[in-house]
Amino acid sequence: MTRTKHTTADWQRLDAAHHLHPFTDYGELNARGSRIITHADGCYVWDADGNKILDGMAGLWCVNIGYGRKELAEAAYRQMQELPYYNNFFQCSHPPAIELSRILSEVTPAHLNHVFFTGSGSDANDTVLRMVRYYWKLRGKPYKKIVIARENAYHGSTVAGASLSGMAAMHAQGDLPIPGIAHIEQPYHFGREPDMDPDEFGCQAAQALARKIDELGECNVAAFIAEPIQGAGGVIIPPASYWPEIKRICAERDILLVVDEVITGFGRLGTWFGSQYYDLQPDLMPIAKGLSSGYMPIGGVMVSDRVARVVIEEGGEFFHGYTYSGHPVAAAVAAENLRILRDEKIIERAGAETAPYLQARWAELGEHPLVGETRGVGMLAALELVKSKTPLERFAEPGKVGTLCRDTSVKNGLVMRAVGGTMIVSPPLVISREQVDELIEKARQTLDETHRAITRG
Ligand SMILES: *Cc1c(COP(=O)(O)O)cnc(C)c1O
Repeated sequence: MTRTKHTTADWQRLDAAHHLHPFTDYGELNARGSRIITHADGCYVWDADGNKILDGMAGLWCVNIGYGRKELAEAAYRQMQELPYYNNFFQCSHPPAIELSRILSEVTPAHLNHVFFTGSGSDANDTVLRMVRYYWKLRGKPYKKIVIARENAYHGSTVAGASLSGMAAMHAQGDLPIPGIAHIEQPYHFGREPDMDPDEFGCQAAQALARKIDELGECNVAAFIAEPIQGAGGVIIPPASYWPEIKRICAERDILLVVDEVITGFGRLGTWFGSQYYDLQPDLMPIAKGLSSGYMPIGGVMVSDRVARVVIEEGGEFFHGYTYSGHPVAAAVAAENLRILRDEKIIERAGAETAPYLQARWAELGEHPLVGETRGVGMLAALELVKSKTPLERFAEPGKVGTLCRDTSVKNGLVMRAVGGTMIVSPPLVISREQVDELIEKARQTLDETHRAITRG
């Protein structure tokens, strides 16, 4: 392949001229110029200036097997030659979609044996909204329509996805949420009640669901949707008491539990799924990101036997689907990704060895004067930047410090993400112990430099 030789400045100029980026302040971007990433291998990405950067975020929480796996490229190449596209509408199917469905029924929890394919996690949550309402209609309860979600949740950026999400800034720009969606508080212990006993706080946060169901009327509520651990909301890990209480509330009242595993699926928590980590039995489980390790856009909704039976046996045609549902090339790549995750025991190895190592080393950062809390599960970790540790005082503008810390981190050769004043890592599952050491060293250097910059300023 020949590619025009561009300098970074050339790319940035062209980018500013023609490319409207997702989740980006255009004025700011065009003033500074975008960071142009040109290639990647293993756990590293390279920018157009040749800088090698440790990708502490696995892209957007998705490159679980790491970059540069030729087997996935070959799977795509083979499939494109054999059958680059065909649809799964109107009684048609094809081997890659069938094969991936079978594999997914094997790797997901036992009661999830059907999948509805989508192009992304956002689409998957559109499908969730359609399917829960369809399910209750078929069950003869058409009033059960409202879906309860949580503040600061992230469920995608389509109209349905952004409505289910609990991000105030997204809602404000889009006149969202659409009707039929309600939000309850998030179980953010450090952010809300750091002095309260965590389990007491967790129970209290879960009780918000019971109260909301009672307020709306159980006969009007279709489902509760939540991420096992909120990702984009700032790696919000609920206290141990939270999920058992939520499970109890959902079972006691007749509503569906939708567990959004777009980030936590395929090994992020050191188990195959977050539902296993928290012992959940989701009725519906949206997936995407790690499904293909980000090599191809593909998502889906895993459907429990309980819901699938109704949809299959009691429904006629489900008037819903995407041109690219189960796209053959994306499906072939996802299947190869899952084969590698399984054959190489990547999740089991991360769960038993490298993830506990990451957590132990990440916890050391808690001693830093700028860090009010560290937390993490599996290959997911966060820390809170604070102005003072005792007494606990947070920054007036945490987003400013977070952005400074993130930019400093990238300069130091490590991608960390900032959500307000929370710094996050979510590295590829294949990260080695030596690379964990590198990540911690760069994070510490970044905290030192950030600390110096703000005490100076
Ligand atoms: C990223 C994400 C989505 C949206 O997925 P896209 O593929 O970006 O549409 C949905 N839910 C969660 C939990 C996510 O992290």
